[in-house]
Amino acid sequence: MNMKPRLNRRNAILMGGFLLGAYLLLMIIVTNAGQNRLKESQLNELNLNVTIYSESIGYFFETASKEIREVSQHKTTYTFFANLASGMSMQYGLGSSLLQLRRNLIRHTTPNQHLHENAKFDRMLLVGFNSNIIADSNPKIPFDIDSIPFQTMQTIDHKIDIVAKDGHITIRALQNVYLNGELVGIVVGDIKTTAIINLLTTQEYQLSNSRLSLSTDAGSLPIWDTFDSSASYRSNTLYFNKKVANTPFNIHAWFAPISESQIITSTWFTIALSFLAVPVIFGLYYSLRINNTNLVLTTKIEETHSQQAVLTRQNHRLKTEIDRRKMFEKELAYQASHDILTGLSNRKSGDEKLKHALLQAKRDDVNVLVMFIDLDDFKQINDTLGHLAGDKLLVQTAKRLRQSVRKTDVVARIGGDEFLLVIPNLDSEKEAQTLASKLLTIFEQPFQLNGSQFFISTSIGMSIYPQDGKTTEELMAHADIAMYRVKKEGRNGFSFYEASMNTDVQRSLDIDARLRQAINDNKLEIYYQPIIDLESKKITGAEALMRWWDDKLGFVPPDEFIPIAERNGLIHKLGHMALHTACHQAQQWQAIQPLSIAVNFSAAQFRQQDSLIETILTALSNSGLDANLLDIEITESLLFNNNIETVQILEEIKRIGAHFSIDDFGTGYSALSYLQKFPFSKLKIDRSFLQDMETNPSSQELVNAIIAMAKALGLKVVAEGVETQWDQNYLKTQHCEFSQGYYYSKALSKEDFEALLLQHNPNVT
Ligand code: C2E
Ligand code: CA
Ligand code: CA
Repeated sequence: MNMKPRLNRRNAILMGGFLLGAYLLLMIIVTNAGQNRLKESQLNELNLNVTIYSESIGYFFETASKEIREVSQHKTTYTFFANLASGMSMQYGLGSSLLQLRRNLIRHTTPNQHLHENAKFDRMLLVGFNSNIIADSNPKIPFDIDSIPFQTMQTIDHKIDIVAKDGHITIRALQNVYLNGELVGIVVGDIKTTAIINLLTTQEYQLSNSRLSLSTDAGSLPIWDTFDSSASYRSNTLYFNKKVANTPFNIHAWFAPISESQIITSTWFTIALSFLAVPVIFGLYYSLRINNTNLVLTTKIEETHSQQAVLTRQNHRLKTEIDRRKMFEKELAYQASHDILTGLSNRKSGDEKLKHALLQAKRDDVNVLVMFIDLDDFKQINDTLGHLAGDKLLVQTAKRLRQSVRKTDVVARIGGDEFLLVIPNLDSEKEAQTLASKLLTIFEQPFQLNGSQFFISTSIGMSIYPQDGKTTEELMAHADIAMYRVKKEGRNGFSFYEASMNTDVQRSLDIDARLRQAINDNKLEIYYQPIIDLESKKITGAEALMRWWDDKLGFVPPDEFIPIAERNGLIHKLGHMALHTACHQAQQWQAIQPLSIAVNFSAAQFRQQDSLIETILTALSNSGLDANLLDIEITESLLFNNNIETVQILEEIKRIGAHFSIDDFGTGYSALSYLQKFPFSKLKIDRSFLQDMETNPSSQELVNAIIAMAKALGLKVVAEGVETQWDQNYLKTQHCEFSQGYYYSKALSKEDFEALLLQHNPNVT
């Protein structure tokens, strides 16, 4: 990631150096070429200039010649020669024509004021062909007549002549004068050299380093020489030689070559530029180095940055991780202190809060209320409607509890369907009572579960600090005991802890411990209560009921130890014993009279379904009892275990041939659908309905209704708790099939029952 820009920058600098080098090289080539081209063009230009000079001079001489010719043909010249030829004397006319002639000559050597033109001639003369001077514009200066090439002029009409004398050059234009075709004289014009010089020096090169001269074989006329004598370029001057047309002249021109100092693209300049490039290259080199250093720095900075970024990221991650952990810890702490389902404090947290409340109460010398709230028959809801519905019920319960107490009060879920309420700063027992009543009423409202309304009641047990205990353990245990008291007394109520309750607890602990021993010692017996056919008034069956006389506890009723056995698991052993004993006994009694045997089965026994059928089959086969004579009594609570397995096992037992009786009918939920779904043969009306039947018409109606319903379902009805003849008669009128109760007999030992049977069957010995 960091390598790319480094390479790019280094490359950029190298590229820059390379380009600069290439640029310099190109510049040298271009400047050289340019110099050559420049020299070439200078040559061309100079050549052109020299040509122009030569043409100018040519033109100058042409006009000079023309002027001389005009003089030669001028009327004054003609007049003079004509007068001379006519022999006119000087005094008479010749003198004046000569004067005229001379005036004309002078005119050509003086500046023309009208034309603002300098004269081309210094001196103009008319020379007779016989070698005398006829007229002279400037007679004061002696004229060497011998300098006139008469000989030559005889052959030519016109001539530019150079006369060199004493190192002085005179340029002279000669023009023959003819009179009537005869050569009579020559007009001689000495050219004004300054005119030539002026003509040429008006050209642009006069000031440059140059030298120009007009030359003939006879000598040369310097026009200008502006050469710097000290200059070293003299040796390699540019020389031009040009013939001036129609004249004897050659123009010689020398020019200084284009000065190296004058042209900006000179070698020196290039070299200077190259030298200039040196610091640039050095600069580049240094910038490369600096850049490299920078790059190292940059790289380091980038690295630092990236490290920082990494660190930041790591920090961020660390922070996230810490946050996550904090959250997790919080969650754990929450989970550790809260019940996830209801959001209430859990048992541990409830304990701690109670402990805290107790500490405060001790300091402030106030009371604390500890309340145990247990839902009645919650297990049935759970079993019937499923755990999800059970959970919903718990959540709704928690909400209702929380809403009915103050914020400072503690509400905790301490078990499946057990809640703890702690009211710190309790004013009086009355306040506790009011609160408990209020809590019972909030459960009078139905719960919405799976779209239907359900009612559930609660049992509330309470203990108060400091009177019922000083520690959380004591107070909780006592509230629990009080709650169990409520359960025992029919649920849906509340109770304060009383010291006497403690003995109850002790008793159940004792029962628990001693029952195990009693089972091992075979201390439990089965008693039999006859079941009478209301039609024939004969004993047609017996219900096997468990009896236990303990050495220490005395008689323990099955209502007391069966629930304990259900809790501690001893029920299986008890049930096994009851079934085997009852079957065996019933089989024995078949010899006296045909008799069916009803055996109570706890719902808990159906939780070991695999071994249940095995147990029944073994009991039947061991005793030899016909399965048809076995009545299995189960309560509605089992039916709440509304799962497919329960139905299957009941069907299976039914297939063996045994029968089912629904026991204690009317006390539970008494749902008709259960009766239809399960394969029952008999329905046993709970004894509580019989209790006030004689005096309470509504109880009668209820019994009537149950009998009618049972009939509709094809079930035989057994009425339990028949204690009076009235009961018996009433049931008979209602077409109840069987009857069971103290009116006939209590549960009897096998001996007593056998005696009873024999009493009813006197023929059997
Ligand atoms: P349950 O099955 O309803 O048994 C009938 C109970 O009613 C028996 O009480 C019986 O003595 C009593 N009873 C019978 N006739 C009358 C009457 O005219 N008036 C009054 N007031 N009571 C009458 P018990 O023997 O105390 O049994 C109580 C419960 O214990 C039974 O009620 C049954 O649910 C349970 N139980 C008894 N033995 C067994 C057993 O072997 N296995 C299981 N699982 N439960 C048993
Ligand atoms: Ca029963
Ligand atoms: Ca019963």
